Amino acid sequence: MSEPLRNWAGNITFTPARIARPRSVAELQDIVRGATKIRVLGSGHSFNRIADTDDTLVSLTNLERVIRIDRAAHTVTVDGGATYADIAAALHEAGYALGNVASLPHITVVGAVCTATHGSGDANQNLAASVIALKLVTASGEIVSYRRGDDDFDGVVVSLGALGVVSEITLELIPTFDIRQNVYLDLPVAAIETHFDALMSRAYSVSLFTRWQGEIIDQVWVKALGSGDEPSAELLGARAADRAFHPIPDFDGSTSTVQLGVVGPWYQRLFHFPIEQKASAGAEIQSECFVAREDAKAAFKALHAAQDQFSGALFISEVRSVAADQFWLSTAYGQDTIGFHFTWKPEWEATIAAVKAVEQALAPFRPRPHWAKVFTIEADAIRALYPRHADFVALANRLDPDGKFRNPMIEQVLFR
Ligand SMILES: Cc1cc2nc3c(=O)[nH]c(=O)nc-3n(C[C@H](O)[C@H](O)[C@H](O)COP(=O)(O)OP(=O)(O)OC[C@H]3O[C@@H](n4cnc5c(N)ncnc54)[C@H](O)[C@@H]3O)c2cc1C
Repeated sequence: MSEPLRNWAGNITFTPARIARPRSVAELQDIVRGATKIRVLGSGHSFNRIADTDDTLVSLTNLERVIRIDRAAHTVTVDGGATYADIAAALHEAGYALGNVASLPHITVVGAVCTATHGSGDANQNLAASVIALKLVTASGEIVSYRRGDDDFDGVVVSLGALGVVSEITLELIPTFDIRQNVYLDLPVAAIETHFDALMSRAYSVSLFTRWQGEIIDQVWVKALGSGDEPSAELLGARAADRAFHPIPDFDGSTSTVQLGVVGPWYQRLFHFPIEQKASAGAEIQSECFVAREDAKAAFKALHAAQDQFSGALFISEVRSVAADQFWLSTAYGQDTIGFHFTWKPEWEATIAAVKAVEQALAPFRPRPHWAKVFTIEADAIRALYPRHADFVALANRLDPDGKFRNPMIEQVLFR
């Protein structure tokens, strides 16, 4: 008997009646046309049932990898199964970069875009913001193309996979650039009250890593442009690390992208974990809540006050900034945002209790949960956080009148 199919974290066992692995877009169209219910599985890095189905699960890993760079338009077009790891070095070698990336490169571009995946940086929007066109295999098997500026474009990009299968996606490129990464240790929590904005805008991308224990933020990761000033030895009371660190302080720092201020290309510094460090499974569970930037300090304070209720279940938490965008289902829709991310130990009951404690502490700030991670906020409350929710439902009903691309989680959160 073959092994059951699980997500990267191992907390979800997928339940499809059949798994399809088309080798061409024409084959994919036939599969979609013939299916009653269908979902796409990207690289399986989501922590909930967003990708699951009890009917047809389609994986695009066997599609021919496409990396088509258009030097006139400064874009790259990739197939629906490509990962950031597949494309990053090729972009750099061609003189290009992506504006921002997530913490690891092993996720598919479309899977990341669909769930409003993000990195950090006051001027950096989530990864969906680099999309300028995509092709969608809709319920009838027909391919519909969308470009930035089209009606409904802002609805189709962050789709949670509920509108069709993205067979091809085109991303905006910028000239390649260098980054230097420095880690600072033991930032006093008091610095948040007085210096939060200065801290988060200190460099191209800044992450705060904390175990929510005592009065210390364990690490500040500063990813600065390589062309900028030399890093300082101290940052608002935090001291520069003199060895490489993993986000979880006790873990092996040599598995992170190069730190200690060594300048290198964007794709070898902006991810926290390098391309060659592929972990096929991970013993952890993640959740994340986003609040409006203007509420960040008060939200931080509320979590600090409640930290004893959840820090025991935690490996590490990461605080990042995401600039506002206009995608209807984006967690940064209409507001500059701060994400409070939590990497939990792989103990389900303790994790759920801790997730609830975090959500409760953040409730006054109307947190939007990450679509791809664990959350317990009620569907009604989530919908109320998205002013364009009704437009998304209307678009989905038009493109997929029979709900072919919906699974129980999507039905529950968006449609019921
Ligand atoms: C270790 C780790 C680190 C992470 N770091 C970050 C981070 O830094 N920032 C962040 O925001 N998130 C982060 N995440 C979450 C991750 O970015 C999301 O789970 C993302 O969706 C994963 O992409 P995937 O390819 O694994 O997609 P899956 O989990 O396989 O699928 C996600 C969704 O996309 C849909 N989908 C995938 N491909 C297609 C397609 N071609 N057409 C239509 N729908 C499609 C699926 O149906 C599903 O609904 C992390 C997760 C892990 C495990």
